[in-house]
Amino acid sequence: MTESVRNEPRIDPHEILDGIREWVEVETPSADGQAVNVLVDRVQAQVAQLGMTVDRFPGRDGFGDTLRARSPWGGEGPGILVLAHLDTVWDKGTLGRRPFTVDGDRVYGPGIYDMKGGGHLAYYAYRHLVRQGRETPLPITFLFVPEEEVGSPTSRAHIEAAAREARYVLVLEPGRTGNGVVTSRKAWGRFVMTVTGVSAHAGSGHEHGRSAVVELSRQILRIEAMTDYARGITTNVGVIAAGGPGRGNVVPALATAEIDLRAPDEATADEMVGRILALQAIGADVTVTVEGGLNRPPFVRHEGVARLYGLARQAAADLGMDLPETATGGVSDGNFAAALGVPTLDGLGVLGAGAHAEHEHLLFSSLEPRTRLLLRLFESLT
Ligand SMILES: [Zn+2]
Repeated sequence: MTESVRNEPRIDPHEILDGIREWVEVETPSADGQAVNVLVDRVQAQVAQLGMTVDRFPGRDGFGDTLRARSPWGGEGPGILVLAHLDTVWDKGTLGRRPFTVDGDRVYGPGIYDMKGGGHLAYYAYRHLVRQGRETPLPITFLFVPEEEVGSPTSRAHIEAAAREARYVLVLEPGRTGNGVVTSRKAWGRFVMTVTGVSAHAGSGHEHGRSAVVELSRQILRIEAMTDYARGITTNVGVIAAGGPGRGNVVPALATAEIDLRAPDEATADEMVGRILALQAIGADVTVTVEGGLNRPPFVRHEGVARLYGLARQAAADLGMDLPETATGGVSDGNFAAALGVPTLDGLGVLGAGAHAEHEHLLFSSLEPRTRLLLRLFESLT
């Protein structure tokens, strides 16, 4: 038996799936910090049992706690930072409606693909090292984030601090079609537009009213027209609010809209943020204000990203796998790390489909190869 065969890890995808199921069956909507902390407690106990040094940063504003766990080996120097979020976009009760279900190669469950599957893979890979008594050349730090799906407002500082100390950042967000990983993500901006008009009786005083809904409607068309697919810019008005139940007889004085911006690089993002914040009223006697800005900087495929991707592709090739790279408009905590110039690779989690959608599922067949790839990365990065 050759050295490489003898050292080949034995990884049990059924055991991995059992572990993922445990995490999926603790529901963790981002806004419910108490619910998220039930899973944080569990994960904390699991990593502590593996001998990791654990720090837990209390949540605020109703969010759950951020968990950091570091390997006892590899010294104090910069190492591998692994990012995973434990929250999901799914409200409590989703599990009752859409329970953990295995259907052939597809395994369904809220948050199973985005990204409890990936987070658990990282844990399992680390546990596999410990079970075999192996250590990695670099220290490994896990950061489990409680509110990524709402923009990581309370964990961002911890993510950035950990990324600054890291040599490499691996993000366990869902993998992409054909065993793909992610090497660039757009910047994400969020804004709220508030339009104030003049209310009036729709029957007796219509001419005295200045409808905030009419003004907002015109603004929406202007905002949506900023989309430029050729330049990688999209604008989306996803939420509007005005009036109230039974208020069809009132010329509305107030209307609001939530605006989502995606842009491929910093210069474009800055330009678009400026344009959105500068929006002025179109009609007479109404006021328009816009608040907001960039929530996440762009994850640009800089030299460090390209180098880490090259190392990962080689690790995959050693295992007989392709590892195509993908660019996406969706954002992750990888944006924060990559924007600091730290080599970052994202989309290393499970394969599947349906993030944030009813048909969310992972592919059972991806559990073993993706764990092997992660192990190979843990053991080969220096
Ligand atoms: Zn995610």
